[in-house]
Amino acid sequence: MLGAIYGDIIGSYYEVHCTKDYDFPLNKESHFTDDSVLTIAVCKAILNFPDDIKKLGLRKRAKEYAAMYRHYYSCFPGAGFGNMFSKWARNHDLGNIKSYGNGGAMRVIPIGYAYSTEEQVLLQVKASCMPTHKHKEAINGAGAVAMAVFLARKGKSKEEIKEYIEKNHGYDLSIPLSQIREKHIFDSRTSYSVPSAIIAFLESTDYESAVRNAVSLGGDADTEACIAGGIAEAFYKEIPDHIRRFCESRLDSSLKKTAREFCEKYITD
Ligand SMILES: [Mg+2]
Repeated sequence: MLGAIYGDIIGSYYEVHCTKDYDFPLNKESHFTDDSVLTIAVCKAILNFPDDIKKLGLRKRAKEYAAMYRHYYSCFPGAGFGNMFSKWARNHDLGNIKSYGNGGAMRVIPIGYAYSTEEQVLLQVKASCMPTHKHKEAINGAGAVAMAVFLARKGKSKEEIKEYIEKNHGYDLSIPLSQIREKHIFDSRTSYSVPSAIIAFLESTDYESAVRNAVSLGGDADTEACIAGGIAEAFYKEIPDHIRRFCESRLDSSLKKTAREFCEKYITD
């Protein structure tokens, strides 16, 4: 799960200073953004309400996720939240938003760790998206990300993960990253940025290369690296020490505490 947060931190500088260079340096101005804050909000929502839900419990569960998103927004309002999200978070009377942005997919990595069946992962993903990303594209992309984590931690191969997502989520994951990189731009639509982040993982050889692949697409770098890094950690099960050190020093201590609590409970291998 920390792999997602480290990806966000490393990508944060390059979200503004786009790069197509795979060998980009880790920049000292890197910092955690909304991707990390909301990933931790999802961790906290799972820690507080760990039980499985049924279809009938979706609305109630969505409200629990929503309350946690608002709480974490109020703690870190300057973390880089989008306008639409900020408006929703500040106004408790606003109903669900139907965004098709990648904000639903960027925060679901913990769900892939915490639940033990495909059905439950997808129900939790849906509940987690409903408050702000109630668009079928956003829910589909978030489901693909959480299921990639779920399958990776179950020891599935990249080929199996690729086939599952292509079949169940309708993405074409066979386009080479080099071809995507040529034209890739900053575009935070789920259907544009999520498949490329998953391909960044599929073409990687270890955690660091997944994050480098994602950042050097030159697009929504923090979010794409958050997603690629989150899946890569579940698959490779290790993160190099120099990356861990670089990112830990840039993470707020209360976020760190909740992340640690989540990892101790749900990440056993
Ligand atoms: Mg961000």
